[in-house]
Amino acid sequence: MDEFELIRRFFSKDNNDTSVLIGVGDDGAIISPSPGHDLVMSADTLIENVHFPDCLPAEDIGYRCVAVNVSDIAAMGARARWMTLALTLPDVDEKWLQQFSDGLYHAAQEYDVSLIGGDTTSAQQISLTISITGEVLPDQAITRSQARRDDLIFVTGNLGDAAAGLDLLVNSAASSKTEEFLIQRFSRPSARFEIGQALCGIATAAIDISDGLYADTKKLLMASELGGHLYIDRLPISMELKKIYNQEQRLKFALSGGDDYELLFTAPAMKLNEIRKIAHIYNIPITEIGEVRNQSELNCSLNDKLINYDDSGYLHFNG
Ligand code: ADP
Ligand code: MG
Repeated sequence: MDEFELIRRFFSKDNNDTSVLIGVGDDGAIISPSPGHDLVMSADTLIENVHFPDCLPAEDIGYRCVAVNVSDIAAMGARARWMTLALTLPDVDEKWLQQFSDGLYHAAQEYDVSLIGGDTTSAQQISLTISITGEVLPDQAITRSQARRDDLIFVTGNLGDAAAGLDLLVNSAASSKTEEFLIQRFSRPSARFEIGQALCGIATAAIDISDGLYADTKKLLMASELGGHLYIDRLPISMELKKIYNQEQRLKFALSGGDDYELLFTAPAMKLNEIRKIAHIYNIPITEIGEVRNQSELNCSLNDKLINYDDSGYLHFNG
């Protein structure tokens, strides 16, 4: 199969998106953005054995590379619209490509984003780069840098599931429904696109959690030139994670395990009711886990005791 045939078979599905004037097949794509909107652009690369293990099924790889890109757009409070895919593969494996394409289009449909072009090359290691473009109304985007002193810190969903899932995926095959659930949370992350958009005008700053709660909270607060405090005992932990791992393991996954793709955001206390409403509408928990403070560091406490936490992901329980 030559490159032309490969693109035609696996990456040329039409989805009747009227904003795509020219899609896959020409030298470049032409899109027609919604009038009066600003564009938000981002790219994310996934490399085999760096960002995902080689045992991850192709369908999950396809799904995941779309979801993690949509998540970046969601964290800006924007709506994901169009993406291109730069695909590097060691060989042409039709079965792999079919499954990858199925996963990719599944996610594209779920998140309502169109594949409008890309590039296909050959090299030893599988590498996938998606460039994604979204839309947002002027001055509505949520950036990282506008957190304010005394804002509360919130997180969507549960934390630590994806890191536990990756651990299970690499070290053992899923042998129970609980393990399967956790593995799915790694291989099929949910981009919180509806919540991201609903938070425009409510959140002062936001980031999606890809490197772990602690590191990403720090990143967010540093961008706002502030520090803060995290109440570790408030972290939202799933029933499934509690079932398999002890408290120390759970907290390590939640604080330093990446890949959850939940949204972390700050908002003033007076927005609490609106935030509760959003959680209710989308049926996703949103938990208040800390506060923004006028300091340079990010502290953590567990049951009112300060905890030393370092970026290597190690938890030091005091006393
Ligand atoms: P060119 O040589 O002009 O760059 P290519 O042969 O690389 O064209 O690609 C042909 C068309 O297929 C282009 O429209 C390109 O955007 C699209 N394309 C190539 N690879 C992919 C891919 N992996 N997924 C989606 N579209 C792709
Ligand atoms: Mg090309």
